[in-house]
Amino acid sequence: MKKIQMVDLQSQYQKIQPEIDSAIHDVVASAAFINGPEVKKFQSDLEAYLDVKHVIPCANGTDALQIAMMGLGLEQGDEVITADFTFAATVEVIALLKLTPVLVDVDPKTFNIDLEALKNAITPKTKAIVPVHLFGQSANMEAIMKIAEEHNLYVIEDTAQAIGADYTFKDGSTKKAGTIGTLGTTSFFPSKNLGCYGDGGAIFTNDDELAHTIRGMVNHGMYKRYYHDVVGVNSRLDSIQAAVLRLKLPHLDDYCSARRKAARYYNNGFRSNPNIITPVTEKCGEICDTCNCHVFHQYTLKITNGKRDELHQHLMDKGIPNAIYYPVPLHNQKAYLDDRYKEELFKVTNELSKTVISLPMHTELDEEQQDLIIQTIMEFV
Ligand SMILES: *Cc1c(COP(=O)(O)O)cnc(C)c1O
Repeated sequence: MKKIQMVDLQSQYQKIQPEIDSAIHDVVASAAFINGPEVKKFQSDLEAYLDVKHVIPCANGTDALQIAMMGLGLEQGDEVITADFTFAATVEVIALLKLTPVLVDVDPKTFNIDLEALKNAITPKTKAIVPVHLFGQSANMEAIMKIAEEHNLYVIEDTAQAIGADYTFKDGSTKKAGTIGTLGTTSFFPSKNLGCYGDGGAIFTNDDELAHTIRGMVNHGMYKRYYHDVVGVNSRLDSIQAAVLRLKLPHLDDYCSARRKAARYYNNGFRSNPNIITPVTEKCGEICDTCNCHVFHQYTLKITNGKRDELHQHLMDKGIPNAIYYPVPLHNQKAYLDDRYKEELFKVTNELSKTVISLPMHTELDEEQQDLIIQTIMEFV
């Protein structure tokens, strides 16, 4: 059996190695390392794939969030609501820009921002909502957009874990995650669903004016060379990364299907265990065969018999990689403590941080490997 890994980037690379190697070689030979033609081509390929008017590439997913907030002109004291259960980058940039982060609880089934908690957190100072499409499943964007419209708020979708996922509206129409809000952001970190071979990120929007503002902001606030109209940053996707991403983009739908297939196999394997809660999708409940509503950046179980930490150790001892995303809710992280946060507001994130465990999940996982993982867990729990 092939060695089980949390993410297997080598095997994925081997399948497309000749094209990748030659694309990287071409960039090196052309010496167009920064803002070369590959960047423009990837940008327009991704615009077509997502069906969005503007993709603005940048250096990583954290920058993408920061620049999105800068582009909206948010100011010190403005409140930005986001989920308590996410990677720290989401709240980090809010704090870094001297905006006021407001963390709220999440839904126990989907792990995404809880709509009631979101509504209750809105004040006259609230300017934006940052839903995170956690673990690959889109947050309830239809409801979030309705709340945002009622309160005149911007919506920035953190799509770092869900590129390629579809969101289905009540009328049956679909849009790609990240293209529904005012802005969407993503990361091309190697282990993300569309990963490059270094750091990368992008911002999406259908708003022409905002796209123009942001295109200048990623490049030192320049709209005309050496004329700096606004305070910007230096945040670029380099040409080698763009060349890699451009070759991987046509595979993204297959990558998503492979992840979903592996998730369904896991779900079946754990079905009969009363101490294990398997992932559900908001739209279909189970992991359905046809729709692309969950792209399983992570496959995350809830262990309900209090033995999550023992299971983590047991799997480690058996050489089966696994991870706890996330062991401490953000409202309990030193950097983001705030007197306003009362523990009773975070019942779900407090529980999730004690029960969740993420299993190996990637495009190259095979059933033999999954059988061993399932058997090892079923015997222990
Ligand atoms: C990975 C990730 C980010 C940050 O992306 P980087 O490219 O690593 O900066 C932001 N938000 C979420 C939810 C992520 O998973």
